[in-house]
Amino acid sequence: MQSTKEFWKAVLGEIELELSPNSMVFKSLLGRTWVDTITEDAVNLICEDEFVKKNIEKRHHDLLTQTITKIAKKQLTLNITVKRNQEPKERVSQEDMLGPLFQQARDAGVLLKEKQAKSNLSPRFTFDNYVMGKNNNLAYAIATAVAERPGELYNPVFLYSGVGLGKTHLLQAIGNQILKNKPGTRVVYTTGEAFTNELIEAIQSGKGKGRYATNDFRNKFRKSDVFLIDDVQFVIGRETTQEEFFHTFNALYMDQKQIVITSDRPPKDFATLEERVTSRFASGIIADIQPPDMEMRSAILRTKRDQGHDNISNEVIDFIAEKITSNVRELEGAYLQALTYSKAKGVVLDLQTTALALGQSIREKGLRNVNINEILKTVCIYYSVKAADIKGGRRMKELVVPRQVAMYLMKEITNSPYMTIGGFLGGRDHTTIMHGVDKISQEIKKEDKTKQDVINIKQLVYAS
Ligand code: ADP
Ligand code: MG
Repeated sequence: MQSTKEFWKAVLGEIELELSPNSMVFKSLLGRTWVDTITEDAVNLICEDEFVKKNIEKRHHDLLTQTITKIAKKQLTLNITVKRNQEPKERVSQEDMLGPLFQQARDAGVLLKEKQAKSNLSPRFTFDNYVMGKNNNLAYAIATAVAERPGELYNPVFLYSGVGLGKTHLLQAIGNQILKNKPGTRVVYTTGEAFTNELIEAIQSGKGKGRYATNDFRNKFRKSDVFLIDDVQFVIGRETTQEEFFHTFNALYMDQKQIVITSDRPPKDFATLEERVTSRFASGIIADIQPPDMEMRSAILRTKRDQGHDNISNEVIDFIAEKITSNVRELEGAYLQALTYSKAKGVVLDLQTTALALGQSIREKGLRNVNINEILKTVCIYYSVKAADIKGGRRMKELVVPRQVAMYLMKEITNSPYMTIGGFLGGRDHTTIMHGVDKISQEIKKEDKTKQDVINIKQLVYAS
């Protein structure tokens, strides 16, 4: 076999082909790894630090294993460890490894991106692309004020609304803005669901090690300057998690660290919450976001069009804005559907073609509620596979793709917890589901076929 350095270079080259040019975070992560040894059946990868290791394990393990197997032409497992005071023997330098793309990325502010990734933030959500209107002006005003002066003005901040109305966007925009203003700030973004899962994992992995088991978990959250927790409803009502959450909350609150919480309902609607906690939440400021009116929906789509330089007329935008009234997520989905249709068919949309693109279901019935079982059935019909095979463990391509598409659509359409989806899909781990969802979201951006499949299945789901 080639030297370990050559081998790793080949693997990285292959991955670069696989990834879209904007997956810079992954590339910069890989720049901080090297191969220690390659044995008969394993590649032993060393990471610069725990952060790199964790991220690679969590999000990129499968892709790496597949690529390694492909290059080595045999099944190899990937072992990942963190360096212990040891310098790389044969390290592939970053330039050496990823060519011009990498340099470009570094110039374009990989540092901020790394910070954002470390904080668990997506650069996609900013105040620049958030449209303010009657329905959200208080929430917007509070969010921008907090982003400018974290910990000083309003604390805690509690934002609530129905699904798809912009809570996650605002919350992440706060984090991104703070990192941009003051890169040294320790911003932590998490969701109620992730908080719960991580706590469970910490408790499990610490079994038998006594009371220090959850220390890492605690430090991660309690040492933040800005703590952003999305969809806190997942935490409330689960005894252990709720308890842990309040300790975190109190510790940060006492230290006058900024806390921003979002939820699908106001604090007073949490039946299981004690009075002292409700009043804590309310001691700061509470704001809601209402569904957008026609004018606002149109404004959101126009902003989207202008930012994407899409060739879509105001007339068509107003048509979509009039038809899709439920929430912004659905509104964006319909817009994307129309745009894809126009590109695929090579036509400039008018009202008729738009109506066609949006499909009968959306035009006439509006979107109805769909559950994960219906999604599974539709995916199975679409790909001609059996539900039992999707739930089962076999890993050939004909099953893996439908399986991941099912994961993606279940998350996107119903926003069910990863754990629920994993349980439903044959008892899979929540991280497997996260990976599947991630994989398909990436693929939709690159592969027209996948994108079209997803759109078709969605139409079928809503039409049936
Ligand atoms: P929630 O967290 O309340 O369910 P999200 O923040 O995920 O909603 O919003 C759903 C989608 O709609 C996201 O893509 C988001 O960028 C977009 N969106 C929501 N509100 C606005 C807004 N006021 N301006 C621009 N985009 C918005
Ligand atoms: Mg959200």
